[in-house]
Amino acid sequence: MESKLIVIKGDITKLNVDAIVNAANHSLLGGGGVDGAIHRAAGRELYEECKTLGGCNTGDAKITKGYKLPAKYVIHTVGPIYGREGGNEADLLANCYKNSLTLAVAHNVRTIAFPSISTGAYGYPIETASKIAVTTVKNFLDEKKGYVEKVYFVTFSDTDFKIYQNLLLSL
Ligand code: ADP
Repeated sequence: MESKLIVIKGDITKLNVDAIVNAANHSLLGGGGVDGAIHRAAGRELYEECKTLGGCNTGDAKITKGYKLPAKYVIHTVGPIYGREGGNEADLLANCYKNSLTLAVAHNVRTIAFPSISTGAYGYPIETASKIAVTTVKNFLDEKKGYVEKVYFVTFSDTDFKIYQNLLLSL
């Protein structure tokens, strides 16, 4: 059977999928890393819509349109800051993936791409964060069959790519 979970290396803003996920911050008004790249590529209208959302709590997710992006939607989720969440980092990171996928299903999203949430500026070690990402997504798809068809894990470095690739091969 063709795999539903796929790792790729590249720029998430270029992907022609139904939704891309943004590793945002509480304000939802843009920042560095993947967040900055998504806002630059989507344009000013994304910022204007984000201003109406009232921010987002860690582990939660909110959806907007994709504007100038090839993707129809952006799902904004706020990852945990490693070492600053009172030991709840793993649960909060899993919530980012679950809540993003729940929103995706509610909006009929069939193809979705995730960046490696929290593993940049927020400092989550890639080895543990990627395991949480892959197992949480796999469990969600197993429970909710027939909705989301493809989930892309978008990595930005060769090291991250290999880590995700090994995880997916071991499933
Ligand atoms: P966080 O604040 O959640 O840690 P970052 O944006 O700092 O988020 O980093 C998350 C991951 O996204 C890092 O692995 C970073 O290299 C990667 N990244 C940065 N820009 C892009 C992009 N355009 N497409 C995909 N991944 C990206």
